[in-house]
Amino acid sequence: MNQPRFRLAVAPLRRGAERMPARSRPNVEQVVAQLRPEEPLHCLRPATLRANARAFVDAFPGETLYAVKCNPDPRVLALLWQGGVRAFDCASPAEVVLVRQLLPEAAIHYMHPVKARGAIAEAWSRHGVRDFAFDSEAELEKILAATAGGSDLGLILRLALPKGGAALDLSGKFGAEPAEAAHLLRLARPHAERLGIAFHVGSQCTEPAAWGRAIRLAGEVIARAGLKVDILDVGGGFPVPYPGSAVPDLARFMDAISGEAAALRARLGALAPARLWAEPGRALVAAGISVVVQVQARRGGMLHINDGIYGSLSDAGALNWRFPARLLRASEAAPQDFGFFGPTCDSLDRMNGPFRLPGDVREGDWIEIGQLGAYGATLRTAFNGFDRARFVEVSDPPLLA
Ligand SMILES: *Cc1c(COP(=O)(O)O)cnc(C)c1O
Repeated sequence: MNQPRFRLAVAPLRRGAERMPARSRPNVEQVVAQLRPEEPLHCLRPATLRANARAFVDAFPGETLYAVKCNPDPRVLALLWQGGVRAFDCASPAEVVLVRQLLPEAAIHYMHPVKARGAIAEAWSRHGVRDFAFDSEAELEKILAATAGGSDLGLILRLALPKGGAALDLSGKFGAEPAEAAHLLRLARPHAERLGIAFHVGSQCTEPAAWGRAIRLAGEVIARAGLKVDILDVGGGFPVPYPGSAVPDLARFMDAISGEAAALRARLGALAPARLWAEPGRALVAAGISVVVQVQARRGGMLHINDGIYGSLSDAGALNWRFPARLLRASEAAPQDFGFFGPTCDSLDRMNGPFRLPGDVREGDWIEIGQLGAYGATLRTAFNGFDRARFVEVSDPPLLA
């Protein structure tokens, strides 16, 4: 029987023609004046991506694993590498292959708690992946079977957390409850060269104390298991600013983590994890990409634009998040609140914002929408045929920092 062939379900962003050498990188207004784009224009900020990666790597008192699902664009991955990120949290066979092909020296950690057996075997034997997440006895058994006979296995237990202060909960689906978690650590210990405990406080978590609480819970699990754990993985969730929601400095989160990790060492002594990992996604990449959209019609306070919830703006729809927006032409008109309609025929393709723009916005105008580097382009679909976008590198600073 023929092997079924796989293909990408969504046309990749159009690349290539607009690639420019770093020296002559233009700003957003210059690109728009030149291209007059009728398709969404993704503006990548290499300097921002590199600097944000560097800032996190330098501030975090351990190893930084970038969560690839947040934005798997090869240019983004390469820029994060340039910013000092050396390890990548992958969750699918395609992410593992992508990172391995692009960054042969990268450490890849397979952090999805539920994996296909073949995917584990392939990551282990073909791509040099050594660390795998699990949250159940059945998954542990799958990992051990697929990596049988090998040494140097890292086993990272994902712990479930009570719902906390994050915008998006990430414990609804994965994670072992504390009592079960202690049992799983005991089962895994004899097989693990490295044994870890991981959690995710939820995405866009604005409360530093959430990490403190989670680390204390991890400590209780380790104490209950009564054995040495090597790695404490504090996950992702580090927030970025959006309009109307300022966030504490990264340093506050790092202080909370360092302080609680030190307290854990004091309490647990030799059992305490000596190594810290973090898995940031959003914090590294959100500010690094904006999207320029064009207004196709104005109906009162609603603007019909050429991107929407089935494109790069899904969080502006389903989550009703606000994003920074600016009109790309001079205007003296007083600012006003606008909502957006996306280009598809679906009435749900609507973003209420509000987006603050000069009151004289009209058909043909271009608007730049910022903070779309995280969970933006990667969630695009081809629905209704609106699968085209352009991609450029620009010299601008982020719209919000
Ligand atoms: C999505 C995800 C991350 C990244 O989360 P952010 O909120 O983008 O930082 C990290 N770890 C795991 C396991 C994830 O699923």
